[in-house]
Amino acid sequence: MLRWLVLASSLISTGVFAATSSTALPVVVSVAPLQTFVEAIGGDHVQVSTLVPSGRDPHFFSLTPKQIATLHHARLFVGVGLNFEANWRDKLSLDAWLNLCQAHQAHDDAPDSTTSTDTEEKTKSEAENEAAHHDEKQDEKQNEKQAAHSHHEHHEHHHHEDPHCWTDPLQALEMGERLRDQLSDMDPAHRQDYHEGFDAFADSLRDLDARIRAITAPLSQRRFLVFHPSWGAFANRYALVQTSVEQDGKMPSTRALAQLLEAAKRDGVRVMVVQPQFNTQLAIQIIKTLKGSVIHADPLASDYFGTLHDFAHALATQLAKP
Ligand SMILES: [Zn+2]
Repeated sequence: MLRWLVLASSLISTGVFAATSSTALPVVVSVAPLQTFVEAIGGDHVQVSTLVPSGRDPHFFSLTPKQIATLHHARLFVGVGLNFEANWRDKLSLDAWLNLCQAHQAHDDAPDSTTSTDTEEKTKSEAENEAAHHDEKQDEKQNEKQAAHSHHEHHEHHHHEDPHCWTDPLQALEMGERLRDQLSDMDPAHRQDYHEGFDAFADSLRDLDARIRAITAPLSQRRFLVFHPSWGAFANRYALVQTSVEQDGKMPSTRALAQLLEAAKRDGVRVMVVQPQFNTQLAIQIIKTLKGSVIHADPLASDYFGTLHDFAHALATQLAKP
């Protein structure tokens, strides 16, 4: 009896019962870089749809009926903790829901103490990021979610995690590990392929990290302005400092804007990073006042490797100017 139970539970945990279809696994992701990640690891075994079209602000986004239908057919959802993701979590019957910007828990039944230690380690480095962080609505949502899912997540968080975590290639590597394990659990027949896909993806990420490290090495602790705080994880990884114009996901007050300008002048900040999802007029005015330059970089682009490399290069070029 005991042996049967052990066998049955190991079959369930490896997902043998779930993998009955020979067609590709339907996966829905919230933003385009995640599609790049899932496809790198899943190859032909996954069918990935991205919800937020390029150019749209993913923080204030609602789904079309067609997208909702896609969501209902998905077996795996992969997100980063954006507002609209949380709105759907309880409405769908998926096999798995991954928030890849949330500190990882190996097992749902892990003791709380272990989990919160992991979380603290992760959030400490994030706290060093000066990014003014996201909107209060998101806080509220996180709190609601916390109430609903207190067993599974959000154990002892004092602040939520950065939903732009993928801008750090080494966090992307951890995200890839979780995707590899999730896909392997759901579709164990292709476990080997997922591992090989991940290994190649991981090599590319380590190579990207090394290249960015070389590019940014001379810039230690240099500051850059951003309109929207998308580059905090990148800044943390490469010892740079991001300062956001947006405050808690909103336009800054006149007073906050004056303080930001004053600090930027004092620190000699000369670079403003903008992305196409946001109205950047104010950002451009600010950097004109500071006699600096604008860098256009889209952290939501599906060309993940090119975007990060080009961003590092542009930042180094601009920050090196006298
Ligand atoms: Zn954002």
